[in-house]
Amino acid sequence: MTTPTLVARGVRKRYGDTQALDGLDLEIAPGAIHALLGPNGAGKTTAVNVFATLTRHDEGEVTVAGHDVRRSPRQVRAAIGLVGQATAVDDKLFGRENLVLFGRLHGLSKAAARQRAGEQLDAFGLAEAADRKVSTYSGGMRRRLDIAASLMTRPRLLFLDEPTTGLDPRGRNEVWEMVRRSAAAGTTVLLTTQYLDEADQLADRITILGAGRVIAEGTSAQLKGNIGGDRVIVTARTPADLARMAEVLGGQADPEQLRLVVEGGTTDRAADLISAVRELDAAGIEVDDILVRRPTLDEVFLHFTEPSAESAGAKR
Ligand code: ATP
Repeated sequence: MTTPTLVARGVRKRYGDTQALDGLDLEIAPGAIHALLGPNGAGKTTAVNVFATLTRHDEGEVTVAGHDVRRSPRQVRAAIGLVGQATAVDDKLFGRENLVLFGRLHGLSKAAARQRAGEQLDAFGLAEAADRKVSTYSGGMRRRLDIAASLMTRPRLLFLDEPTTGLDPRGRNEVWEMVRRSAAAGTTVLLTTQYLDEADQLADRITILGAGRVIAEGTSAQLKGNIGGDRVIVTARTPADLARMAEVLGGQADPEQLRLVVEGGTTDRAADLISAVRELDAAGIEVDDILVRRPTLDEVFLHFTEPSAESAGAKR
């Protein structure tokens, strides 16, 4: 069995009256992309800060790359890279200079820093922009340079805090591609994000946090499977039809989009679709469109976080 790159067991952290982490357990396999999702205040940032030795936890055990974060913080720091919300690169410097500087600050020789910077610029499509000032970069390029900087030291574990916040769709795709390639090259990634599609796109496993502990964990498919069968989506022609459909089939109506979302009653998607069509036909309701699809990660997120969001509120 391979040793996990990160192991957290029963981690607790309190700030005054707030129990930010309340018995967090987490394991991340080497080379995996693991997403940490959760509503505001769930404890994502606190967890990353504990794992990255920036915050001391009160109780529990955390090891990163085999080192205990409390007993061996220096070894942990040498094994990780951290890309936060604010960019770490300097606007006034060229892209290449930024990487070389970062490498030098982390103990690489001049020659090693230059060589590694060149490799990183090539690997992540920044070679052409290498000798331009960062102030001329797009948001996506800047973010990629930021990630490239944190990869200069070949960290075993890279923490990415909401890596695509504020980027346009093209920038997001570029960053996603970069994260995938880094993981394929052997870097384990812990990604915190509010974007469910980001976790869906990138993560091998997803942990949903609520009120400082794990409320659900698995692959995207497993989490979706946990919340029941497929969804039958019916589009109505008129608001009156939509209301009648909801009476016949149940489910959740979205009057704005004239759509009804019905949770499939069986594990057989074709049977769910056919029975919905039959019931609508028997009731004499015409539909504009009908389809069956798997639950989205948004639905998973709402399903798991709603009850614990209430208990989190009660705690404060
Ligand atoms: P967000 O998505 O908003 O960043 P989060 O999941 O990262 O949220 P944390 O920032 O870890 O959540 O916060 C968890 C809880 O701990 C919150 O209730 C927050 O107010 C509280 N908290 C975090 N840091 C501190 C601090 N330094 N002092 C006091 N309370 C804190």
